[in-house]
Amino acid sequence: MWKTEYPLSANEENDKMQEEHNPKSRAWIELDAAALEHNVNFLRSRLPENCRLMPAVKAEAYGHGAVLISRELNRLGVDAFCVACPSEGIQLRKNGIKGEILVLGYTSPEDFPLLYRYQLAQIVLDYPYAQVLNRFGKTLHVHIGIDTGMHRLGIRCENLEQIKEVYRMENLIIDGLFSHLCASDSPLPEHRAFTEKQIRAFHQTIALLKKEGYPCPGLHLLASYGILNLLRTEPGQAASSPREAADLQNAWEPKALAADYVRPGIVLYGVLGTESDSLLWKDSLRPVLSLKAKVTSVRPLYAGESAGYGITFTAKQDRKLATISIGYADGLPRELSGGRGSVLINGCKAPIIGRICMDQLSADVSEIENIQAGDTAVIIGKSGKHEITVGQLADQCGTITNEILSRLGGRLERILL
Ligand SMILES: *Cc1c(COP(=O)(O)O)cnc(C)c1O
Repeated sequence: MWKTEYPLSANEENDKMQEEHNPKSRAWIELDAAALEHNVNFLRSRLPENCRLMPAVKAEAYGHGAVLISRELNRLGVDAFCVACPSEGIQLRKNGIKGEILVLGYTSPEDFPLLYRYQLAQIVLDYPYAQVLNRFGKTLHVHIGIDTGMHRLGIRCENLEQIKEVYRMENLIIDGLFSHLCASDSPLPEHRAFTEKQIRAFHQTIALLKKEGYPCPGLHLLASYGILNLLRTEPGQAASSPREAADLQNAWEPKALAADYVRPGIVLYGVLGTESDSLLWKDSLRPVLSLKAKVTSVRPLYAGESAGYGITFTAKQDRKLATISIGYADGLPRELSGGRGSVLINGCKAPIIGRICMDQLSADVSEIENIQAGDTAVIIGKSGKHEITVGQLADQCGTITNEILSRLGGRLERILL
């Protein structure tokens, strides 16, 4: 039989430990507040007047930490946010985040009291869902989704009667109407034509509603790529690069994009979905997140010896290995094993060797002279002249930055710089 005695039972002792805990002891995320502010200002500079930011801070603000990011955004005057589900909105409210919070996804009817209690606005997913929301019986704030071609959520734009029905539902207060573009990241002519069709369908629907006297507050349809690809930089601005020339030429009539909000997600965090897109905008955006971990042990691996699970790496000559305290449970994709990925230590690049473990990985640091336990390894970010971007990781893993970032684990400490 086990008989366990916990040496720390008094709350004060626990609190003391909490205070003395070093957030950089294992693996952590550093958030660059100045970069976030820069990105907010850049986006605002591209937006028409009266168009406000309603950033997507869902999925822990794409892995950055929803409370830390939203607090900073509040400080920068941002007062509207998008989340995916009520629990994310409640987390923000409990941490004192001010302003509108819009739930972009499904909320189950048993959670409607939470929408009411925490003042969260809910999107109308479709017409039957509007009826269910209305049946709750207490006043709920909603944004009506209008499906203009993505066919995921929203009432189909041609079903105007259904949209008007929602206006007649006595318990629903309509704070907004919106749509979502599904090909605005693409410069291909057929995709631009599709996007144009979506924008036109949205504004036609709004125009019809207005004509019949239905008030249409809170319009929004652009996310990151829409903002960057569709909005003019400055009225009458001369292009300073071929990219900008194409950008200006392609720019939509600002009137066609007139809206009360935009919903930037990934762009706010200073990158785009892929490395090549991020490079196109690297003069305008600054990455907010760096991912770092401790070197916990440095050891030799002699010629002929193997390292790690599955003994997949065998040294041809004598090598030097560093063990680093971050693994796939922290969200680092296991696909980066076997030399596909690298880390940066003391300004040098070191390939990840063997298989990434749940909580640790090994890197070949043979070329790095000054290295010892306690040093910092950069997984995403800069060290000396080198930089590893999240876009590079995404490319290496055949995915997009959004996925890599949003999977960064809850065990990582988040530090705002
Ligand atoms: C996630 C999301 C956004 C933000 O998307 P980004 O491409 O990251 O800017 C905007 N609108 C909706 C409906 C979303 O689900």
